Amino acid sequence: MLEMRDDVAMDLNMINRFSLMNELKKYKVNIVTGVTCSEISGSKLTGTDKDGKTAEFSFDKVVAATGTRKINEIADAVEKAFPDTYVIGDCVNIGKIADAVHKGFIVGTQI
Ligand SMILES: Cc1cc2nc3c(=O)[nH]c(=O)nc-3n(C[C@H](O)[C@H](O)[C@H](O)COP(=O)(O)OP(=O)(O)OC[C@H]3O[C@@H](n4cnc5c(N)ncnc54)[C@H](O)[C@@H]3O)c2cc1C
Repeated sequence: MLEMRDDVAMDLNMINRFSLMNELKKYKVNIVTGVTCSEISGSKLTGTDKDGKTAEFSFDKVVAATGTRKINEIADAVEKAFPDTYVIGDCVNIGKIADAVHKGFIVGTQI
C-alpha cells in the first residue's frame, strides 16, 4: 500500500481506523508512506518521495484510491442563472455524508 501522506487512513474515525489497521497488520500488508505513485509501467510501480528519490515496487493488481476533487461548473452556472441558489455538499467542499446532510439541514431551515 503506497500512501503519499505521512500515515494511512488519517481521516477515518478512531474506532474504524483501529479495526482497519489491525486487519492490515493481520494480512501483513506492506505499507509505505510519504511516497507518491509517479508511474505504473508493466508490472512495476514507481514511487517518489518528497526529496525526489524514486523506488520501484512490484504488484499483482493495482487499485487506485486517490481521492476526489470538486467540479462545480454546473453549480456556478445555476447560481448565475438563479441567484437564489444554495450550493451544498461535495461541490462546495469534498467531505463526508454527514457534512453534506448537515449543510443540507442548515440550508433547509433557512429557506
Ligand atoms: C468512493 C467513495 C466512497 C465514499 N465513502 C464514504 C463513506 O464511507 N462515508 C462518508 O461519510 N462519505 C463517503 N464518501 C463521501 C460522500 O459520498 C459524499 O461526501 C457525499 O455523497 C456528498 O453528497 P452530495 O449530495 O454533495 O453529492 P452526491 O452524493 O455525489 O450527490 C450528487 C448527485 O447529483 C447527481 N448529479 C451529478 N450531476 C448531475 C447533473 N448534471 N444532473 C443531475 N444530477 C446530477 C449525481 O448522480 C449524484 O446522485 C465517499 C465518496 C466516494 C466517492
